[in-house]
Amino acid sequence: MNDILPAIPPLIDPFARAISYLRVSVTDRCDFRCVYCMSESMTFLPKKELLTLEELDRLCSAFVRMGVEKLRITGGEPLVRRDIMTFFRAMTRHLDSGALKELTLTTNGSQLARFAGELFDTGVRRINVSLDTLDEKKFADITRWGRLAQVLDGIDAAQKVGLKVKINAVALKGFNEDELFALQGWCATRGMDLTFIEVMPMGDLGNEDRLDQYWSLKDLRARLGERFTLTDLAERTGGPARYVRLEETGQKIGFITPLTHNFCESCNRVRLTCTGELYMCLGQEDMADLRAPLRASDNDAVLEDAIRAAIARKPKGHDFDYSRQVVGGQMTRHMSHTGG
Ligand code: SAM
Ligand code: SF4
Repeated sequence: MNDILPAIPPLIDPFARAISYLRVSVTDRCDFRCVYCMSESMTFLPKKELLTLEELDRLCSAFVRMGVEKLRITGGEPLVRRDIMTFFRAMTRHLDSGALKELTLTTNGSQLARFAGELFDTGVRRINVSLDTLDEKKFADITRWGRLAQVLDGIDAAQKVGLKVKINAVALKGFNEDELFALQGWCATRGMDLTFIEVMPMGDLGNEDRLDQYWSLKDLRARLGERFTLTDLAERTGGPARYVRLEETGQKIGFITPLTHNFCESCNRVRLTCTGELYMCLGQEDMADLRAPLRASDNDAVLEDAIRAAIARKPKGHDFDYSRQVVGGQMTRHMSHTGG
């Protein structure tokens, strides 16, 4: 049976936004413990809570049938999920049918040397690799468990097989401020675009104080502007990213500023956790459990109804706010849960 056809009405939320982008967290586990993302002693979910790969397939296929054209696989670290390539291979059929326009991945890069070739074979063409520093010692500090060399090998492997790599770096005050041009220059020599992300108040704060870590991208952008000619690009992805081109290198630099920019009006995305919770907004607690309807019946109509009911609850926007120097609109769940 072709599970793409017949076409069914697309997903439109109450603010007339079409939902065309699904981010899927396939695991809450990770081989790193980045300080802004996880605590050192994380308790992970028992296996039975997780959607199986077949369930992930059924859910993602339902979304694709309902108009999702872009699927980003994330986590935790997606490439540490056992047999994850089986899931990627299953999604290839949606690329082949034309229903899915892009299958992509956000990774810490640690397993890329192993999986780059297979990823390319499944139809993945572009990936995001998260990397905040090029200094070995600082890398070990920020990721707690990571090794820089392994990630750099992974990036090499990805580029070698033809995957287009974009680097995502969290902008951290007093941590990678001094590496702005080193990171930009390194990306330029490798033909990679670079996006900076403002640190977000996710998870419990523990001993890290995110107000201290907060480095405004306005400031970062101004510093880039002192050395390069910046041209604003009209390109919008329906998400919180804005782009400029550095005229001297031709490089595209992105800024993800969920805290200082209101991007919600064009939001086209929802997020699915590895347990089947659908978050309609990264910055709101409201979610819909899709695992229950998924497991309750083999009939996909039940699942589709649950998805439509969830989208009908998508809020207008988030409430993140650092403006009063207290962390407002703070979320209690970790980024690794909703998948960043
Ligand atoms: N493990 C993969 C990785 O690191 O790319 C995918 C999941 S990770 C949660 C996705 C992205 O979220 C990464 O780029 C990471 O740097 C970012 N991230 C995690 N916690 C964050 C926070 N508190 N604020 C801003 N970005 C965060
Ligand atoms: Fe793992 Fe990515 Fe979170 Fe770092 S940011 S701990 S690599 S999930």
